[in-house]
Amino acid sequence: MNSIEKNLHYIRKTIPGEVMLVAVSKTKPIADLAKAYDAGQRIFGENKIQEMTQKWEEMPKDVLWHMIGHVQTNKVKYMAPYVDTIHAVDSLKLLREINKQASKNKRIINCLLQMKIAEEDSKFGLNKNDIVKLLNTQEVKMFTNIRIKGFMGMATFTEDQEQIKNEFKSIHSLFKETKTDFPEINTLSIGMSGDYRLAIDCGSTMVRIGSSIFGTRNYP
Ligand SMILES: *Cc1c(COP(=O)(O)O)cnc(C)c1O
Repeated sequence: MNSIEKNLHYIRKTIPGEVMLVAVSKTKPIADLAKAYDAGQRIFGENKIQEMTQKWEEMPKDVLWHMIGHVQTNKVKYMAPYVDTIHAVDSLKLLREINKQASKNKRIINCLLQMKIAEEDSKFGLNKNDIVKLLNTQEVKMFTNIRIKGFMGMATFTEDQEQIKNEFKSIHSLFKETKTDFPEINTLSIGMSGDYRLAIDCGSTMVRIGSSIFGTRNYP
């Protein structure tokens, strides 16, 4: 067994069966993605549209591609023909463009709204009130080619488990509160290599794991 396969087996054993695993393959070569694919992995996460599109062209067509990075409105068109889920949606303008491009491609694109839970300024995302307002906007309710399936969040990069837990709890409470009013909401995307166990304890339904599967990333 190669190490990618081993890592995947280990992670699958340690997460509940109903939690979806997004294998974050950003910066990694196709050969690594192929190993994960051969081990049964079908959901891959990327954070750059150009890189994801290249990989989409080369990989088997039953892969589900998740865009986990920040998205510029003018680039949505490049992934609209194939992207399954966009994780970091943080404006009405972006939702509008995703709906428009999905419609052009006769597709439905799943969206997650990014909630800002970390204390760092650099992290994108909306606060709870903005998210609830967006969900209740008439224009958003009328979009025919997107499905808002839930929320994604990134905790502060810290060793303080108590702080991470509180940040996860804040997005989980939004998830619980909105689920009853919006039947399509069923996804809470929290948890990365360093904190996915804690995220699952806090109600995660989807973890995004990169380095624990593919090894550390080397940025040029
Ligand atoms: C890179 C990335 C991940 C995966 O991070 P690891 O620590 O390698 O598991 C998860 N989510 C987002 C948004 C990322 O950019």
